[in-house]
Amino acid sequence: MTSDDLTGRCLCGAVTVELPSAMRDVGVCHCATCLNWNSGPWMALQAPGTSISGDTLAVYRSSAFAERGFCRQCGTHIFHRPQDGPELAVSAGLFLHADLHIAREIFIDHKPPYYRFVADSEKRSSLSMAREWLPRLLRRRAGRWMGMRR
Ligand SMILES: [Zn+2]
Ligand SMILES: [Zn+2]
Repeated sequence: MTSDDLTGRCLCGAVTVELPSAMRDVGVCHCATCLNWNSGPWMALQAPGTSISGDTLAVYRSSAFAERGFCRQCGTHIFHRPQDGPELAVSAGLFLHADLHIAREIFIDHKPPYYRFVADSEKRSSLSMAREWLPRLLRRRAGRWMGMRR
């Protein structure tokens, strides 16, 4: 990866995404929301600390827990992030010349049968994702609630 590979842009060029450092590990999400959003699985880099700028950046709250960013001018999908938490993920496809590889596939049990990846990657089911995320989300919600009561 060269320094050029750290900067990604949407189709129209109005939104710019700058990674804090070179990264290679792509996560593929097969969940129903991502399939609906992308007409295919979403491929993303987990990249907290990424700077995202552009006047046409719009944010859509896609669930009670998360929101998704896109360019309202050209429609390019930019990011996904939980509403409370630092786990920002940005679209891998924004980085056209980066040397990327598929490290994991999540919500593998939601993957429809008409496609599959040949990459030999870690596979996570919705149950294993829920086991990881639910305690984290509840802790954050509880933390925020306690903060408000103080
Ligand atoms: Zn755009
Ligand atoms: Zn998803």
